[in-house]
Amino acid sequence: GAMTAVSVQACIDYALRLYQARLRSSEVEIIRHWTDEAIWVHADLVRLEQVLVNLIGNALQAMADTPEPKLTLAIDADDRHVRISVADNGPGIPEEHLSRIFEPFFTTKTPGSGLGLGLSISSRIIDDLGGRLNAANLTGAGALFTITLTRDGD
Ligand code: ADP
Ligand code: MG
Repeated sequence: GAMTAVSVQACIDYALRLYQARLRSSEVEIIRHWTDEAIWVHADLVRLEQVLVNLIGNALQAMADTPEPKLTLAIDADDRHVRISVADNGPGIPEEHLSRIFEPFFTTKTPGSGLGLGLSISSRIIDDLGGRLNAANLTGAGALFTITLTRDGD
């Protein structure tokens, strides 16, 4: 795909659309934290969308047994950077796995439900865009993935 000015809000909405049917038939509450101001990044829309699809898919899988599952999507921007965050209130990532989840084929899922490639591909895509993909645990419960990119002038 081509590098263009991509609206971060639109990209998140495209990614969510892919899960529309699953989300409608589930209890997952979706919390969106962003303003109406359009936030632009210079990116390949299809690939950035692929990263968000991966992160949202992981979050939904992680919350499979979570009572009152919540998926929180946020956009924070300053003059130069944009941070996109995908957070869930699932079990989080065991500390001993945090350094390994970006490795190709690292998975804790049963064969067939995960190849362990999503995060390695996602971090590669974000690296190629000159950004960073980070993982952390939230105090309380859940995992937080953040994508940091350079903001495109509007
Ligand atoms: P896959 O989803 O195929 O297992 P990924 O590269 O997407 O591969 O993720 C690797 C591993 O990282 C997962 O198997 C899981 O152990 C962990 N992980 C990813 N996202 C989350 C999350 N939101 N909550 C808890 N663990 C996660
Ligand atoms: Mg995955």
